[in-house]
Amino acid sequence: MSFSTLSNAWQSFDFEACFNSIPPGDVQNVLDRAGHQAGLEPRDLLTLLSPAARDFLEPMAQIARDLTCQHFGRTIGLYAPVYISDFCCNHCTYCGFNAQNRFPRTRLTLDEIDTEARAIAGTGIRHILILTGESPGKTPLSYLKETCRIMTRYFSSIALEVFPMAETDYRELKQAGADSLTVYQEVYDKTIYQTVHPRGPKSDYTFRLFTPERAAAAGFRAVNIGPLFGLGDPASEAFMAGLHARYLEQTCPEVEVSLSLPRMTRAGGAIAPRHLLSDRQFVQTLLAWRLFIPRVGITISTRESAAFRDRLIPLGVTRYSAGSKTDVGGYAVYADRNTVQFEVTDARSVDEVAAMIRHSGYQPCSKTGRYSDMKIGIAGAGGIGSNVARHLAQAGMPHLFLVDFDEVAPGNLNRQFYSINQVGCPKVDCLKQNLLNIHPTMRVETLNLRLKPGSMARIFSGCDVVVEGLDDPAAKKQLVEALAPSRTPVVSASGIAGHDMDTITVRTIGNCHMVGDFSTDIAHAPLFPPKLP
Ligand code: SF4
Repeated sequence: MSFSTLSNAWQSFDFEACFNSIPPGDVQNVLDRAGHQAGLEPRDLLTLLSPAARDFLEPMAQIARDLTCQHFGRTIGLYAPVYISDFCCNHCTYCGFNAQNRFPRTRLTLDEIDTEARAIAGTGIRHILILTGESPGKTPLSYLKETCRIMTRYFSSIALEVFPMAETDYRELKQAGADSLTVYQEVYDKTIYQTVHPRGPKSDYTFRLFTPERAAAAGFRAVNIGPLFGLGDPASEAFMAGLHARYLEQTCPEVEVSLSLPRMTRAGGAIAPRHLLSDRQFVQTLLAWRLFIPRVGITISTRESAAFRDRLIPLGVTRYSAGSKTDVGGYAVYADRNTVQFEVTDARSVDEVAAMIRHSGYQPCSKTGRYSDMKIGIAGAGGIGSNVARHLAQAGMPHLFLVDFDEVAPGNLNRQFYSINQVGCPKVDCLKQNLLNIHPTMRVETLNLRLKPGSMARIFSGCDVVVEGLDDPAAKKQLVEALAPSRTPVVSASGIAGHDMDTITVRTIGNCHMVGDFSTDIAHAPLFPPKLP
């Protein structure tokens, strides 16, 4: 059964009567089963969202905390939204970007997008969400593809929140580097949907409802859905969104599904929220979703206040936006304008949000916190780099970026991951082919170039970790220094000074761990391992 059919079946359901008829004993029964990790049914989600469950928030929170730690660890992913265009052909009555709202519209040029991306990457963010108004004419597929290509230079995970498209278009965007899609149904109640979307392509409820499935079919790694709280009845909207997430999780098992909990905030030229979601209901919704769908990610944006977001950390959240600007070019290009889609309430910097997460006993991750999202840069494809790359491919890492200027030489073959038929060919090309022979679906980007100090930071700006496998001691130092401001972790290795393994020890200074015998001078030692003549 499609989710459209399922959704239709619930459109005439009397949610209010159902919610009000649920007794406290039913809530306790659901909690007993949730605590024992028994799968919950839709009826149980109704129970957890009912007024009766409001007296059970503490036990719900304890179960939610355990389930979240079990499935996500104590990590909170960080991302930043970047608005690149506010042109829109829709008439959503609740949004400041709607086509009727008169203000000077902006679409960033590709150079301006690069400037914004660089500014955001400089904050340490590695997961970007690209947003536009919905205007296929002003922000066509070709423009979005170019945008994605730019973003791949800076970010390891690229999500889109743009107009809904056909599966074939999503495939092209995936080729260009996008891996995730956010699409909010906004309101699952069809009658309200038609009222708040009176004109424009978005008035097609069903096409929008199927959008996450088209993205999944195109190979997107992740989809993020949700209602906009403020349009329909909060509890019934939370129920439908929970059902939708469960449906996607079951029908697209290879895709990471997440839910967002956005509450309407004020914006110029938009209606005020009709159905306010109180803080208590917000927490209840978050907990109910976590208990009903334990493996689904939950995203909270900077629409919520700093103090409120601080309190949500242990309750099941998995992703926060941070340092957000919600106007086009708001990070660097037009930082002095104020034509926001919605007002940011938590205006803290990425560093401040990360510090708050650490203070709460969790680890902030610039991405989702999953290894499957990481992009690892490898500087130098020789004895260290080629072998590290080989082991990373064997371990199933999905995304490597190889940088080296050299060609394969006969003297490399006894210790580097190349074969004799590759002698004379660029190392990065040969290594890419060898890695794909191990792990055919991994993504391997290459750059055949000698690294220079002035460009190192830019070249590796989209990487979560960089492996330093360079020969030249000066270049090793330059790479570590170049990546220090962005706090990109560098794993550095050098030839061991001394080949008597019994004398090798580890010396630690701060977060730097050095391995060696700390006495042998390489100038007086034989090469180790030996090179071929
Ligand atoms: S919510 Fe999206 S589609 Fe609707 S007016 Fe705003 S930008 Fe356009």
